[in-house]
Amino acid sequence: MNYAEAFCEVETELQTIKNTGKIATYIPELSHVDPRQFGAHLTTINKEHYSLGDSQTKFSIQSIFKVLALTLARGFDEDHLWNRVGVEPSGSPFNSLVQLEYEQGIPRNPLINAGAMVVCDVLLNHLPNPRQDFIKFVRGLAGDTDIDYCSRVATSERLTGHKNAAMINLIKSYGNITHDIDKVLDFYCDLCSIEMSCKQLAQAFLYLATDGVNPINGEMVISARKSKRINAIMQLCGFYDEAGEFAFKVGLPGKSGVGGGIVAVHPDKYSIAVWSPPLNAKGNSFMGMKFLELFTTRTESSIF
Ligand code: GLN
Repeated sequence: MNYAEAFCEVETELQTIKNTGKIATYIPELSHVDPRQFGAHLTTINKEHYSLGDSQTKFSIQSIFKVLALTLARGFDEDHLWNRVGVEPSGSPFNSLVQLEYEQGIPRNPLINAGAMVVCDVLLNHLPNPRQDFIKFVRGLAGDTDIDYCSRVATSERLTGHKNAAMINLIKSYGNITHDIDKVLDFYCDLCSIEMSCKQLAQAFLYLATDGVNPINGEMVISARKSKRINAIMQLCGFYDEAGEFAFKVGLPGKSGVGGGIVAVHPDKYSIAVWSPPLNAKGNSFMGMKFLELFTTRTESSIF
């Protein structure tokens, strides 16, 4: 079945499924979003676009930023990164602290909160104007200047993120955070607060379907080897303790965020973003997971 037909069929089928997900409220500002919104956008490497519903409405990308931060950090040829963060699936929730103590402050992977904080610490070494430089990087990937931070969401998380604060203190106690804790946490919360639409996200992630090349301007975002490795990390770690389920049911590398967004990449074919705010028990979009499962099944486009 082609992509357009699958979008229509899957949309109809989703209406028969009861959404048992719940909006994230632990970041108070995220609880104000309308849970009924739903959008999806697929961009192929040949510049074809397919969209559905609220595909141009912006939402909080939250943990999806972790892939873009990792990409930028790897672009600096940061060889020491893999001494400071692992590449193993955690099998634990995104904000878990339990592994940090017995792994001596080396987070399991860069896509859990602990690992992303270490990546943020690395970026602060390299970016002269971290906030401005990072958003410029994201805008370049998306080919769209209309992308920004949301200070309300960033402040809301900064004021209530006690678990993240505990986590970064623990990592710092092992010497794996070099900057001031508040500086890293501010930067981390800013990056979580970036707002993008499904259309912008699908475009921004397309470099992972094209061996690291930005299809908009032909520039190399990252080498083919590093792009392959980032896809491998997304496949194994992008959904925390639900990574196996996502591989099993969807069969693509991807990344979720507690704003209800999911991006998935089919190398050499397409990038797809879907957004539905209510989350399942593991913190991943309930309908987003269902949509992608049905979509890759109908189109027979899993990588496996
Ligand atoms: N800002 C969120 C947090 O640190 C990101 C988590 C997520 O999207 N899974 O808790």
